[in-house]
Amino acid sequence: MFEAAALNPGGMAPDPAQLMQEMAAGDPRMAMLMQLMQAQRGEPSNDDSIPDDRDNLIAELSERLDASEARLTKMTRIARQLHEAGRVASLRLSRLAAALGACGICWGEDPTCLGCRGRGRPGMMRPDPEMRAELFGTQSPVRDASKHCH
Ligand SMILES: [Zn+2]
Repeated sequence: MFEAAALNPGGMAPDPAQLMQEMAAGDPRMAMLMQLMQAQRGEPSNDDSIPDDRDNLIAELSERLDASEARLTKMTRIARQLHEAGRVASLRLSRLAAALGACGICWGEDPTCLGCRGRGRPGMMRPDPEMRAELFGTQSPVRDASKHCH
């Protein structure tokens, strides 16, 4: 290729087709390869029906792929939103549990809970005063819970 470029000292961009012909002229194998390539390039015009079917199939598959990708993108976005909503709700529930003195894992509903063994209903633990103040202000619905907590 460098030799071919060197043969073109005019600085003009070399014509690829001319380059190929020059290379083929000096190499019988290259000439044969070029004949094969030209034969392949000419083949589709001989029979129009098969390429049309293929083109239609490719177009249809491409459309279906695009639609699938769009659905996947949408579902991924929904999954992320659900995950984020779950995370926020879980955080809010554990803060509420702390404010109410409940088990933040099961709220006293799971006898096999490692945190409370099912005894962590609201008021069973000393409520977190800061969390209570933050969530309920001065009008705490569990104002007396700490007094009753033993
Ligand atoms: Zn629990």
